[in-house]
Amino acid sequence: MTELDKRLDVDKLIAQAREAVQDEWAAVDQIERYNQKRVLDAFHAERVGEEHFAGSTGYGANDIGRETLERLFARVFGAESALVRPQIASGTHAISACLFGVLRPGDHVLSASGPPYETLQQVIRGPRPTALTAQRIEYDEVPLTEDGDVDVEAVLAALKPNTRMIMLQRSRGYTFRPALTVARLGRVISAVKKVRPDVVCFVDNCYGEFVEAFEPTHAGADLIAGSLIKNAGGGVAPAGGYIAGKAELVSMAADRITAPGLGSKLGPTLGVTRDMFFGLFQAPHAVAEALRGAMLVGQLFHTLGYEVAPKPGEQRSDIVQAIRLDDEGSLRAFCAAVQSAGPVDSYVTPEPGAVPGYDVPVVMAGGTFVQGSSIELSADGPMRPPYYVFVQGGLSRMHVEIALGTVLRRLVEEGYLREEVPAY
Ligand SMILES: *Cc1c(COP(=O)(O)O)cnc(C)c1O
Repeated sequence: MTELDKRLDVDKLIAQAREAVQDEWAAVDQIERYNQKRVLDAFHAERVGEEHFAGSTGYGANDIGRETLERLFARVFGAESALVRPQIASGTHAISACLFGVLRPGDHVLSASGPPYETLQQVIRGPRPTALTAQRIEYDEVPLTEDGDVDVEAVLAALKPNTRMIMLQRSRGYTFRPALTVARLGRVISAVKKVRPDVVCFVDNCYGEFVEAFEPTHAGADLIAGSLIKNAGGGVAPAGGYIAGKAELVSMAADRITAPGLGSKLGPTLGVTRDMFFGLFQAPHAVAEALRGAMLVGQLFHTLGYEVAPKPGEQRSDIVQAIRLDDEGSLRAFCAAVQSAGPVDSYVTPEPGAVPGYDVPVVMAGGTFVQGSSIELSADGPMRPPYYVFVQGGLSRMHVEIALGTVLRRLVEEGYLREEVPAY
């Protein structure tokens, strides 16, 4: 035993946390089993075969692999149609294509879940002449209630005759609010559809896929979008994003990814089709492992007296675990430790840097095989009080557990963790 281990028995703490999350892990097993079956059934129904993995070059016309992959995604998400492309550079790109594809000058779009994810702020009302509001598209947002729920009454009251779309963000993103569950999203969508069936209900599904047994499209969403370097790529897809929903809406978003009239018909898959199929197959397991890891981290920091979100036992609808660290040094040490426990670039120390959409520097720890992947273990936080760290991903719960040990030892070593640890 080292000097450190004597002061704080990290292995024992982790073993106790593991014991404490067993029931939550068992619930994750159920969802994983259900989602794995749903995905597998879809592979069978679409008769996926070796011939679909070849990929295409140039225009990518008549790419049967891509066409099958898109039908597969549509089936898994219970949608009429899907667009799944390596050319979609990020989640923001996929969401932006949905907004610009569906909205026309004079339309009104309402964010029903408060301010959207940081990178979308510039898409909507950034300084660029290409931003949404610069195209004469009106934008409003309805704040969430105190306890982080959608204020349905206020949303209904904010609908205008020219409201064409409401947007909802499932994940907490990088805030301390709870993720919106699929059931909750479904209730908001039904309430809106009841008075305004013509309003498109769009859900930013980033970080949410396969966390529950159903997706927003199963609960009435007209259109959803997400990233393949998060949940839906299963840690295998090397790049890309997806859009799924009503066929007409997906085709309009596709016109913004390629060009009006070209839509989903073109787009070479180069050499990545197999990885995208494989990634979707792996996604229910990857997400379940990330959730088990998040539960362990949340449980342990809760026991140490930190404020965490979600709290142990709380229902989850995204893979993010937030911890309020309360000081700058802890945030730096936490992220440095996660980075040092990654398989790639473990020898570098993350430094806070400027990130578009943030007014303060953000520190980000990765060490992933796919650059910027956050279905692989990663942690980040803006350098401002109360110094929240957001932990997500982990393709193996064992890796998360090992990294958690590294984090705790580092916090003790640098004097940020009390030596007196509350007993279970
Ligand atoms: C990650 C994320 C985005 C944006 O995705 P990028 O791939 O980072 O562009 C949007 N919304 C939510 C909720 C996210 O988690």
